[in-house]
Amino acid sequence: MLDILFPKVCPSCRIAALKTENLCSLCFSDIRFINDWSFCQKCGVPFGFFDSTDEDDTGLDLKSGEHLCGKCIKGKFCFEKARSIAIYDGKIRDMIISFKYEGKLSIGDVLVDILTTNMPKDLDSFDSVVPVPLHIVKLRQREYNQSVILATGLAKYAGVNCDLFGIKRTRETRPQIEIVSEDERRRNVKGAFSVTEDHKFKGKSILLVDDVFTTGSTSEECSKMLLNSGAYKVQVLTLTRAKRM
Ligand SMILES: [Zn+2]
Ligand SMILES: [Zn+2]
Repeated sequence: MLDILFPKVCPSCRIAALKTENLCSLCFSDIRFINDWSFCQKCGVPFGFFDSTDEDDTGLDLKSGEHLCGKCIKGKFCFEKARSIAIYDGKIRDMIISFKYEGKLSIGDVLVDILTTNMPKDLDSFDSVVPVPLHIVKLRQREYNQSVILATGLAKYAGVNCDLFGIKRTRETRPQIEIVSEDERRRNVKGAFSVTEDHKFKGKSILLVDDVFTTGSTSEECSKMLLNSGAYKVQVLTLTRAKRM
């Protein structure tokens, strides 16, 4: 009855009326799913996504026989693999920004739905989901951590435990997306995380969850912490993948 009086509107365009779907078909068709591309088997970067950098030097890894990007051929990441659902642009980017910075908490449900209904098929099994943490100061400003909402929804869907306090951010960092230089991004997050308990993740397979993957410096830094505390495998899943500026 309420739906007839107050039809739900698409949370993205706020124009189209909806019956059950989370997004109207126009907004949904704007999302570019990475699954439709060919991508690096390790870090998940879609090939041809970055502009003429060494990441575009793709090749076959002789050990695994997998198709890897230039960065992964050089063995730059300690996580097992990283996957993202969609490219960070257009409507999904707008929704993430509203969700993160404008307090539109209800958009979280839509994003969780996009994440869980498009789970990459090639992820290995995992025991626990861990969100990339926010620093306490930022958490107070925003009142919630977008990664926690994604991770909680995903853990519920997968029927596994979500470890909200496994890693913490020990100092504030600038948003990675605002930093152009890759070296500077690495410095920005270096030593910015720690595990809250030694051996906390001993023998566990962990899925690290975040909203955006940029150069991978944040995922790499968190993965290092998880592996140091005994995790035997860390995989990374982000809702989106951003093009570098
Ligand atoms: Zn719409
Ligand atoms: Zn790669």
